[in-house]
Amino acid sequence: MDNTNNTHNINILDFSLAGLEELILSLGEKKFRAKQIFGWLAKGAASFDEMSNVPAALRHRLEESGYYIGQPEVVLEQVSASDGTRKCLYEFRDGARVESVFMKYSYGNSICISSQVGCRMGCTFCASTMDGKARDLTGGEMLGEVLRMVRHTGENINHVVIMGMGEPFDNYDEVARFIRLINSPDGFSLSQRNITVSTCGIVPMIRRFAEDFPQVNLAVSLHAPNDNIRRRTMPVAKAYDYDALMRACREYTDITHRRITFEYALIRNVNDSKDNAEELAGRLKGWLTHVNLIPLNEVSGRDYKTAEGRSITAFRDILEKKGIAVTIRRTLGSDIDAACGQLRRR
Ligand code: SAH
Repeated sequence: MDNTNNTHNINILDFSLAGLEELILSLGEKKFRAKQIFGWLAKGAASFDEMSNVPAALRHRLEESGYYIGQPEVVLEQVSASDGTRKCLYEFRDGARVESVFMKYSYGNSICISSQVGCRMGCTFCASTMDGKARDLTGGEMLGEVLRMVRHTGENINHVVIMGMGEPFDNYDEVARFIRLINSPDGFSLSQRNITVSTCGIVPMIRRFAEDFPQVNLAVSLHAPNDNIRRRTMPVAKAYDYDALMRACREYTDITHRRITFEYALIRNVNDSKDNAEELAGRLKGWLTHVNLIPLNEVSGRDYKTAEGRSITAFRDILEKKGIAVTIRRTLGSDIDAACGQLRRR
């Protein structure tokens, strides 16, 4: 990066501590200033002026050289009256908008962040993909989503799930940057075990992820017991078939010894029958998994209906009987537009 060119706008949140040290040294400043700035950023500083122990001359120098702190602005917010879930529509400097959701659980506070502006995976039940992908987010912008939420709510965040808009494995390098940034002991210092990445099933990336981040949790959006049904709703299934996906997932558990989570959104008359449950149980029998059943969030402009309550419990019971760990996801914030991508479209 050319840091003398002040016509560039550079998000300083994209810098690792090592990168920041290099930058600070190149400006003729003392190296320890980088650690100070990195710490301020992780504590949520939204302007250089807040960094009270950093000399004013250096703060101005950074600004004049085109560096800025890329926290998004909150342009719209929905707060659930029932459970405190808060959904924010964020806007970045270039006008790109994404969604982020803050949720309270018994074990702590969680944020669901976006990894892309829109999505190009084309799942037919999902709102985020309806206008395609506008651009990728950078790792620093993803960090900005978390930092803004902490600042905005005044709450701690203990768990980050990359399950908002976008496909993280379609933007692997920046998602990797984000994980390293938020995990940094001189920064936000979030344990990798408290991070979950959700993929629609980009098979080659699952193995790479297992090797790069064996402590980060992986969720795989399955949504079907076989290729036939999966291809109807998830175009990615045409590129990577069910068997290839299952092989990659087994490899993942072999490498990491971690339990994989399968997401399964129950769609009425599409994937919610007892036969579908039996077939899924057969696929998953005998290995370290957890199935998350999600009552479909109905999206306006899509024909799909959520499964009926009794088919949801029947589905769960069948998996349970086959010894598969399964939960029906608590629907948080059901009084707000909780399905991601819906707020942005309004
Ligand atoms: N692209 C990633 C992460 C983003 S979506 C992935 O596919 O996993 C997060 C989860 O929400 C995925 O499991 C996705 O399939 C699911 N999802 C999308 N639209 C939904 C809807 N309308 N109702 C319920 N779940 C939905």
